[in-house]
Amino acid sequence: MSETERIMRPSAFPMIEPEEATRLIFENVPGPDPAAVEAVPLAEGDGRILAEDISATEDMPPFNTTAVDGYALLEADLEQSRRILGDQTAGRLSGLRVVPGTAVRIMTGAPMPDGADSVIMVEYTGEAGDTLNVQMPPKAGDNIRPKGQDLQAGQLVLKAGTLVGPAEVGLIATVNKPTFLAVRRPRIAVVSTGDEIVEPGEQAHPGQIYDSNRFSLISAVRRAYAEPVSLGIAPDTKEDLRELIHTALANYDGLITSGGVSVGKLDLVKELLEEIGTIHFGRVNLKPGKPLTFVTVEQGGKRKPVFGLPGFPVSSLVSFELFVRPAILKMGGRTNLQRQVVQVKLEHRISHSPDRNEFVRAIVTEHFDQVTGSYRYTARTTGAQNSSRLLSMLGANALLRLAPGPALIEEGQTVPALLLDRPEV
Ligand code: AMP
Ligand code: MG
Repeated sequence: MSETERIMRPSAFPMIEPEEATRLIFENVPGPDPAAVEAVPLAEGDGRILAEDISATEDMPPFNTTAVDGYALLEADLEQSRRILGDQTAGRLSGLRVVPGTAVRIMTGAPMPDGADSVIMVEYTGEAGDTLNVQMPPKAGDNIRPKGQDLQAGQLVLKAGTLVGPAEVGLIATVNKPTFLAVRRPRIAVVSTGDEIVEPGEQAHPGQIYDSNRFSLISAVRRAYAEPVSLGIAPDTKEDLRELIHTALANYDGLITSGGVSVGKLDLVKELLEEIGTIHFGRVNLKPGKPLTFVTVEQGGKRKPVFGLPGFPVSSLVSFELFVRPAILKMGGRTNLQRQVVQVKLEHRISHSPDRNEFVRAIVTEHFDQVTGSYRYTARTTGAQNSSRLLSMLGANALLRLAPGPALIEEGQTVPALLLDRPEV
């Protein structure tokens, strides 16, 4: 095909529906690389995905212990007053032995002294000198946490793939592991493309603008629990772009580009990606985000995804949110990949593109209905929805999905909303 033909043709890629795009992404984006794991210290464990099964090596508690502060006794002992032999505090063995007519003062968490079969709470006793007055006779087993009550040696405690939070990290510590193997965070290279794009802090010349996409995307990648790597700005020349794509794929797990995926003369990204990988789609029935492109490249025995996002700042962030975020979550071994969808009532009328799936930035508010005891949601948009207007993302906690249909959606109509954050109350 000659250069002119290529330039003149409309996008050669069929327009697919968002559901199909999601399906293709999940089908082709790899899960975590089983070899890419790292030891994570407990104090840094929150939010990581376990890459190993965790089992108990010992019983928990490892010895019979008392659940309360009180006195270790014998049920069979019928005396009301008993001689106190001494103290059994937590963290050591006292060597004391309870026999009929005696008791040992004991603190929560301390091992049970030999001979004793029960503990009476300090509240039900009186002490005079070294004599204990028992107001309520105990039953064998009272207030004792037997060895192995909470965990037994050999028991599987956590499965590989579990999301580690406060309880999980505590359990790993309980079984005496100072570190655990976690799925390595996917390393995602981020690059902006365009001759007009300039690094913030430098001086833009006439016709140039400052790069915003790379910083928005780096921040969004980090929020998807991955490690972003900034590869700077690539000009609209094939050689530079090719070089950059190669560097990214040789060194990182995936690549996100912004710009250069439309049908303009210097929109070279799709064409370059086609040379090195499989284009799964190059156009989605979306607004904003139509030229979104998804490619996988086989590199060094691994499959690496490349997401070519459109250049307009809102288009790139919205398409990231809808398609790239779930993909990166999957690569990182997470299972909760999709945002919650709730039905919302429009607070005002909205006009939209009748032939596209439009994702409108909106503020969703939650209302508690006293009568039904249930929650309902309303939504208002963030104002003008131009794909260049980054201000339309500001404060947005949802994307309203407006399916192709009438150009006007009236106040009070119900539409689905993808929650990006907690609703307002
Ligand atoms: P493109 O997709 O390359 O045709 O770009 C579409 C629009 O987005 C153009 O107005 C670009 O100047 C703008 N744009 C592209 N990349 C960026 C970027 N990194 N930061 C801000 N705006 C951009
Ligand atoms: Mg461009």
